[in-house]
Order: sequence, then structure tokens, then C-alpha cells
Amino acid sequence: MSSSEVYVIIAPSGTGKTTLNRRLITENPAKLAMSISYTTRPKRPNEVEGEHYHFVSEQDFESLVEENKMLEWAKVHKNYYGTPLQEIERIRSQGKKVLLEIDIQGWQSTKKLIPDATSIFIMPPSIKAMWSRLESRGTDDLRTRLIRLDSAKIELAGAHTCDHFIINDEIEHAYDTLSKIIIEDIPPELQRKTGIDTISSLLDTIETADWLKEIRNSIDD
Ligand code: ADP
Ligand code: 5GP
Repeated sequence: MSSSEVYVIIAPSGTGKTTLNRRLITENPAKLAMSISYTTRPKRPNEVEGEHYHFVSEQDFESLVEENKMLEWAKVHKNYYGTPLQEIERIRSQGKKVLLEIDIQGWQSTKKLIPDATSIFIMPPSIKAMWSRLESRGTDDLRTRLIRLDSAKIELAGAHTCDHFIINDEIEHAYDTLSKIIIEDIPPELQRKTGIDTISSLLDTIETADWLKEIRNSIDD
């Protein structure tokens, strides 16, 4: 696929990527648009068809893959998600930058097809903060949150393949950094090595934290 300004945002669930991306789109409607993915995940009560996702059956999703209608697709948290090629074309035809909010597998496929796409990995300041954000969002029960934590391991393990890293600790600072990269083409202050060290420490917490072991044990009982 030819060159374009495609930005891929990857973050473990509960990090704050939706909050940051939606604000970026709202504040820059003439410059940037978000690709709307297909998913087989059930719609949440607050979600709108065609705005958050195109919600489809597994059968319809399979047909779209077979008909080569996807730029990339992946199974995430037990559901299928994919980027419609048509979305990229639609946004490009409007002369806007394309924002993809996809998982790390999606980034790895996109990178092969659009080599000059830029990826930004957003991480939480700690696993505890991420867990609290998932709890306070109130959209997922305990079992679902634990599945999301398992998926976070996959995201974090592949994060070193990303171009830039942002820690979403203080939201205004994270937003400012994201906006600088995507809108102003200014690279982030966070050094690559610091980003990768932070990722290792987050992965270590998921594997070893006693408070998480207690939560996992509580549902096994
Ligand atoms: P994601 O899309 O990565 O799963 P969301 O954007 O849904 O995450 O954010 C998860 C929750 O965390 C939301 O309730 C959101 O308001 C909150 N949140 C996002 N960023 C921050 C931040 N920097 N500090 C505290 N809470 C945050
Ligand atoms: P959620 O179910 O919380 O909306 O999204 C779960 C995960 O699916 C997130 O990590 C999100 O980035 C990823 N995702 C959403 N759309 C796509 C897509 O089109 N392709 C891929 N590969 N992942 C996606």
C-alpha cells in the first residue's frame, strides 16, 4: 500500500487510549479521523453502531476477511476485530490523517502493509492504576477485566516494536504529547529506553503482584 499519514495507537485496555483519541479527533476534526473497525464483540449499552464500531456476526466477519475487505484483523479478548480498507480510503480521500486504535497484532500486520505508518504505544503509570481505571469505567465484570489483563501482557510483550511511547499518568500531559506527535510532528520527550524499561516493569507486576494473585484466586474458588 502506498505512503500515507497513518497513526496507530496501541495501549492495554484501561490505559486511557479511547479518552485521548476521542479528544484528539474532536479538537482536530479537519486534520484527523478515526477508522471505525468491524467487531464481533457485543455492543455495550453506551455504544452506537457505526460510531464506535460496526458490530457484525462472526459469519459476516469471516465473509469480509474472505472478500479481502480488511487491512488487518485479529482476535482480541476472545472477539474478532478488523480495520476496513474502505475506512482508510474514505479518510485519505478527505485529505486527513488516519488514526487506527488497534491491538499490537494489528500494528504488526499494518507495519508490513504500510511501512511508513507511525505507532504510538500508550502505557499506564502502573498496573494498579490501569486496574482501577478499568474498575471505575464500570463496563466490564471481574472475569472480563482479568481477560483484559491477560491481553495486556500480549500488548506489553510486543510494545518494543512501536515507534513512540507515552505514559498516561497525568491526562493533560499525555494528551499534549500525543497531540504534538500526531498533529505537529514533534517526537515525544520520553526516551525509547525509558519506555521499554517501564514496559518491563509493568509486565513484571502482572506476573508477580500479590494483590493480583489474590484477585485471580478469588474467582477460582
Ligand atoms: P481504554 O480505551 O484504553 O481501555 P479508556 O479511555 O476507556 O481506556 O479509559 C479507562 C478509564 O480511565 C476511563 O474511565 C477514563 O476516564 C479513565 N482515565 C483515562 N485517562 C486517565 C488518567 N490519565 N488518569 C485517570 N483516569 C484516566
Ligand atoms: P474494546 O473491546 O475495548 O473496544 O477493544 C479491545 C481491543 O481491540 C483494543 O485493544 C483495541 O485496540 C482492539 N481493536 C479495536 N479495533 C481493532 C481492529 O480493527 N483491529 C485490531 N487488530 N484490533 C482492534
